[in-house]
Amino acid sequence: MKKVYFIVIIICLLACKREIDYSNLQEEDINRENFDPYLMVITDDYDVEIFHNMTGDYPDGTYCAEVEYYNPNTGTRNTYTLNVDVEDGDLTVIHWPNGGWLDETHFSPENISYGEISFISDRGCEYVVTLGDYGGGCYSDGKQLQNDVNIDIEDTTCPNCGGNKDVYEDLCYSCTEERESVCPRCGSYKISFDEYCNNCQDELTNEE
Ligand SMILES: [Zn+2]
Ligand SMILES: [Zn+2]
Repeated sequence: MKKVYFIVIIICLLACKREIDYSNLQEEDINRENFDPYLMVITDDYDVEIFHNMTGDYPDGTYCAEVEYYNPNTGTRNTYTLNVDVEDGDLTVIHWPNGGWLDETHFSPENISYGEISFISDRGCEYVVTLGDYGGGCYSDGKQLQNDVNIDIEDTTCPNCGGNKDVYEDLCYSCTEERESVCPRCGSYKISFDEYCNNCQDELTNEE
């Protein structure tokens, strides 16, 4: 009799170890002990939910996302719907429709396990990204974002050296300093807040 029980247990174990067909996932597969969410073929938001519930992360792929953009230098603030990429649970790329993008060269990838993150780009712009539908393909106003960003970049880039400048200034601090350190009369060095260099100042004083 004991032998029969043993065989029943063995059969049950073998049955439970049945291969899961990840390309055709069944409802009951998810509760199986050997179910591996990382082998899932993610196709829709339902799959995303299962993966997120089991791993705590959003699966790799492209998502629609609401992107709030704020530039404290220029005061530009807008919200856009854009495609974003998630890789290893991190937000890695924000796509603009005409080939532009914001990637890890402009911000450090951050974990987006709560479906929302905020970060500050290398240009000092603040972004809040909220993940939406899986699959992407939802460019609504990315052109506007790129336009805004380009205007902001122009407004905060020194035309002389390409460095960062204040939006209200013509040139960056060091270029302004440099320009103001040139004597308008002879072209040699002067202290920035003096009108002329020492030589010219002396000559002008003597002429009077
Ligand atoms: Zn400059
Ligand atoms: Zn001078």
